[in-house]
Amino acid sequence: MAVSDYDIKKLVRHDFQDIAPYVPIEPPDVISRTSGISPKDIIKLDGNENPYGCSEKVKKALAKFSEYHIYPDPQQRRLRKALEEFTGYNASHIVAGAGSDELIDVILRLFLEPGDSVINLAPTFGMYPFCTEICGGRIIQIERISDFSIDIPSLEQVMEKRTKVIFIASPNNPSGNTISEKDLEKILNLGAIVVVDEAYAEFSGHTISHMVRNHLNLIVLRTFSKWAGLAGLRIGYGIFPEIIARYIMKIKQPYNINAAAQVAALASLEDIDYLKNTISLILQERKRLWNELHTLPWIKPFPTEANFILCRVLEGSARDIHAHLKENGLLIRYFDTPLLQNYMRISVGKPEHTDILMDALKSARS
Ligand code: PMP
Repeated sequence: MAVSDYDIKKLVRHDFQDIAPYVPIEPPDVISRTSGISPKDIIKLDGNENPYGCSEKVKKALAKFSEYHIYPDPQQRRLRKALEEFTGYNASHIVAGAGSDELIDVILRLFLEPGDSVINLAPTFGMYPFCTEICGGRIIQIERISDFSIDIPSLEQVMEKRTKVIFIASPNNPSGNTISEKDLEKILNLGAIVVVDEAYAEFSGHTISHMVRNHLNLIVLRTFSKWAGLAGLRIGYGIFPEIIARYIMKIKQPYNINAAAQVAALASLEDIDYLKNTISLILQERKRLWNELHTLPWIKPFPTEANFILCRVLEGSARDIHAHLKENGLLIRYFDTPLLQNYMRISVGKPEHTDILMDALKSARS
């Protein structure tokens, strides 16, 4: 009997029939094919990546590594050991993932049963609602207030018996602001699992990771994608209460960290001085970009503790500016959603990227 598309559709999970895909950013070679601009002339300020790239020690370690034909350590022993010193937590608290994206997914698989709810503090990182839907959960959305801080009274009000997880990106993507320890304490007291996603913490100079010690419902996620320049290798980690780390180790895919990612993360941790230097270059440039953006009266930049700046476009259209910049080989993110009407988010690049960006922004409105 021939199987038709219809038969396949009937086999697909009922709640996936009309699922919306996550909208990712495209790599330069794909943009190059559609725009005709050579990949080397494309300036990527849309992915919050590190424009200085990873440490040279990473490239050497990857070239020297001789065990690509062998499955990696499912217990991630060397990496978790190396992260002990870096995080101040024993390896029993640490689990690495294929990017923090994977850990978001595994955490939700651990806690969600169909119909359980997850609180999303919008606008924020799109992976939280996406993974919630994949895991059969329900999103309860709370809008952040005008400075993008968290509306704690509303959050307290919407909590229900079936609320399992609350995600808080700090610094938040795309707004760049962080949560205070005082606010976090209040949210932890609600009793659900609170995931503080510190993907950009290295650019903010502070962390709430010490609070994991005293709160069994707090998880902190980190990544090597941003500060360590390893976005392409997909490597992140979480700091968990031990009991949760044990469950995550049980249910994760055994070989979730590929050998190259593990080698690269270890070599990065051995070259902290290089990485600290790139962070300080990015922070210097963030300050300059912030000042430069203020010279344009039609843009309102928001204070940031991350490696990007969210801007509201006061005159003109963010979509048109995005298109104009793209024609010039400059990629940024723009938003035109109910919560972010006419906004753009610009990642901090190198000084020469800021110069080209500012010229392009000025020409977009002249
Ligand atoms: N969390 C936040 C807040 C992010 O902005 C991103 C990247 N866009 C991630 C997590 C994903 O990081 P990773 O590359 O480690 O999956």
